[in-house]
Amino acid sequence: MALKKNIENLWWKRFVLDREDMYGIDAAILMNQEVWKSSGHVAGFADPLVEDMKTKKRYRADHLLEEIGIDPKGMTLAEMDALIKEKGIKSPDGNALGDVRQFNMMFKTHVGASEDETSISYLRPETAQGMFVNFKNVVDSFHPKLPFGMAQIGKAFRNEIAPRDFIFRVRELEQMEIEYFVKPDDWRGVFDAFQKEQVEFLTDDLGLPATFIHQVEIADADRAHYSKHSVDTEFDFPIGQKELLGLAYRTDYDLKAHGLDYFDEESKSRFVPHCIEPTFGVGRTLLAVLSSAYTEDELGGEKRVYLKLSPKVAPYIAAVFPLLKNKPELVDKAREVFNMLRKDSALSGRIAFDDNGNIGKRYRRQDEIGTPFCITVDFDTLGENPENKDTVTLRNRDTGEQERVNIKNLVELLKK
Ligand code: ATP
Repeated sequence: MALKKNIENLWWKRFVLDREDMYGIDAAILMNQEVWKSSGHVAGFADPLVEDMKTKKRYRADHLLEEIGIDPKGMTLAEMDALIKEKGIKSPDGNALGDVRQFNMMFKTHVGASEDETSISYLRPETAQGMFVNFKNVVDSFHPKLPFGMAQIGKAFRNEIAPRDFIFRVRELEQMEIEYFVKPDDWRGVFDAFQKEQVEFLTDDLGLPATFIHQVEIADADRAHYSKHSVDTEFDFPIGQKELLGLAYRTDYDLKAHGLDYFDEESKSRFVPHCIEPTFGVGRTLLAVLSSAYTEDELGGEKRVYLKLSPKVAPYIAAVFPLLKNKPELVDKAREVFNMLRKDSALSGRIAFDDNGNIGKRYRRQDEIGTPFCITVDFDTLGENPENKDTVTLRNRDTGEQERVNIKNLVELLKK
């Protein structure tokens, strides 16, 4: 949770707080079905599936046909169904298959007292539509000049057939998404700038290695129904090179679909702005941070496993320990240092205290959760060696090296 929050806060700071042209919103998860009809999700956000009659597992009908060399492009459900039966295609487990059915990936529910066609609603499969349907609210409230954007962090739901690979593919996912509106001719420059900034966010804010990041332009046939140009950013996960985040040129598709437009004061003309959409999956970003930080090495002749997290994302920036837990004077002094550090607004919530077990174990515990620094209060701190009075040891996670630092310099040092 702490790691996830840090990622979200860094994203929000870079893309919303540090800019004047971005409006943060928090839209509804359940919206009227007309939203999803207009956006194309009721008709288009669907896969053709068949069920294994025995195991009840579902498979993509088009994939099964491709596997035996048949190109299913442009086929209707009935045509796919007929071919699967004619060729006697079985499930990968060797069982008979049922009929091909359209399987929409949106979770369906009913709102209100009645359960009929008019009360159908869907859990949003993307946060994007929440921003498009609130476009007019933002324009009427803030009168922003083009270009401007709307941003949101929130849950989205997809009835994935095969959720897998830890948190890489889940049914309840979280997105950090921007819809950025531009004059139609300006889309290219904005698209390129976001492409660059998406990578900067990964490397500069999250500390991900640049060599793990790959940009992949999406071919015409594979793009989402609303996109005219898409570039995915893929990452070297332990499960292989896979999509981490996306960037799409959604044109005027969505605003037009919802019947929205914009009056431009400068040119005194009314038109539909075009839209660039940078979209980040929170879970996949977290997985990228975690998996690339995992490090095994040897310290003091012992094997160790630790998370080499950037201090910007690490749950704790530092942990404070008394050298021994049964010496009240050490514990009191350590608590005093801990409370002093916590008072600083930049460090608040990012400092841990631990007096459990021996000091070696405490270091290892912090290494495992990626805490970059450990601070130990010892007898020198209390003045046993007058030269070192009011100093503590500051241990570096990556090297295991320790230096003595004056308590009064700690806040500035950790902030740096
Ligand atoms: P995929 O091809 O992997 O299914 P997608 O192209 O459908 O993903 P988008 O619709 O572009 O994904 O969604 C934007 C982002 O949301 C993705 O880049 C990814 O980070 C995240 N995302 C999408 N689906 C899932 C999921 N089922 N579980 C976790 N994250 C997801």
